[in-house]
Amino acid sequence: MTGSEKVPVVTDQPETCRVADAEEKSLLRKVMDNFADHCRSRSLFVLHYCTGCGAIELPPTITSRFDMERVGVSPMVTPRQADLLLITGYLSVKTLKRVILSYEQMQAPKYVVGFGSCTINGGMYWNSYATVKRLDQYIPVDSYIAGCMPRPEAIQQVFLDLMAKIDAGKATAWQDYYLNYDAYLGRQMNLFGQDWHTPTDVVAEAKHYGYVGNGTTGEHTALLDQRATWSLDTVPELYPARGRNERSRP
Ligand code: SF4
Repeated sequence: MTGSEKVPVVTDQPETCRVADAEEKSLLRKVMDNFADHCRSRSLFVLHYCTGCGAIELPPTITSRFDMERVGVSPMVTPRQADLLLITGYLSVKTLKRVILSYEQMQAPKYVVGFGSCTINGGMYWNSYATVKRLDQYIPVDSYIAGCMPRPEAIQQVFLDLMAKIDAGKATAWQDYYLNYDAYLGRQMNLFGQDWHTPTDVVAEAKHYGYVGNGTTGEHTALLDQRATWSLDTVPELYPARGRNERSRP
């Protein structure tokens, strides 16, 4: 090329990609959500807490006789990688604290199934001072299995029903924990005491997932905020000298 020749200048850049409009984006999101729900429903990792007699029905449900693994239901050892929390019978007040801690560690979307009449209304322990009467007062429950104790056939049917609900995008009980967290926290505080709290920042999670509702914050979450400002000087009786350097445990 000599110095007198002009270098061609490209003025019209070819359109390499088109930006999707809002309608296309929402359609794409819907397709992806449906696909994710379908995959989720076919690979449920189960954290079974084994709180009561119903736990004994799980081995035959999972293993060769009924073989729930063939439809993608498999045990998991940690709440952080589990989708489904099974409460397999009666819960003492003390055990419920651990159940709530486990539930809050699970990532959303997460599902809960209560086994037997003990989780529905207290069952044969309905008048015990030490047991919890209704599980869904403290964490959201997707399905209950009636009976004392439920047969593996009933457990299998509830798993299949839950899978169908997840596939259809209707297993949304977990959202209620974020939308009405203040009410759940209030009932937990009534049972465990006003100083009850867990290490999980549920309100921040609600914001993250976009499920902040009128019931997310309220008088009980305000107590948590207030407590975050407490210190050794303001409330010394909460921090006895012997345990000052230890993390407080709920
Ligand atoms: S419902 Fe019956 S089988 Fe289940 S935990 Fe209660 S007493 Fe046990």
